[in-house]
Amino acid sequence: MANIIAIVGRPNVGKSTFFNRLVEKRQAIMDNESGVTRDRHYGYGQWIGKHFTVIDTGGYVTGSDDVFEGAIREQVVEAMNEASVILFMVDCHDGLTGLDKDFAKVVRGLEKPIYIVANKADTQEWSFQSHEFYSLGIGEVFPISAANGSGTGELLDEVVKHF
Ligand code: GDP
Ligand code: MG
Repeated sequence: MANIIAIVGRPNVGKSTFFNRLVEKRQAIMDNESGVTRDRHYGYGQWIGKHFTVIDTGGYVTGSDDVFEGAIREQVVEAMNEASVILFMVDCHDGLTGLDKDFAKVVRGLEKPIYIVANKADTQEWSFQSHEFYSLGIGEVFPISAANGSGTGELLDEVVKHF
């Protein structure tokens, strides 16, 4: 089975920032070698010698009223079918929101490994805020900062165990 990581979650939690951190290097190399414009929502990365594909979801959502029922839900369902590991991203600064709870209903019960990635834990103080996401009852919470990279190694160590 292919090693595919899907990043899902409501808008503005930092999915694309994390995606770019995971795939930047690899994508640049691919672009130089092939001269082909890549789909910006799929990328390739590796961690401790394990290679994987990353899917960034939610990129096309522009509306606000049907933000959950429409495009995002479709993309989460697609990610469910494609991915071998799901990263459900939330935002430590905003805390647990209603839309996070809606997302939780969709990802909960998937027969795949799911990790809650509590982003924007730029400092240890913010990472303490991530504990509240355990109340979603989905699984282990990993505080990270997609911006400065902290916590991302611990998360990836765990994720690639499935590959
Ligand atoms: P997406 O809608 O989930 O793809 O979120 P984006 O990656 O577009 O990020 C939304 C906003 O959050 C942007 O202003 C980012 O600069 C900011 N952001 C992303 N990751 C972090 C982080 O780790 N820490 C902080 N403080 N801001 C972040
Ligand atoms: Mg995005």
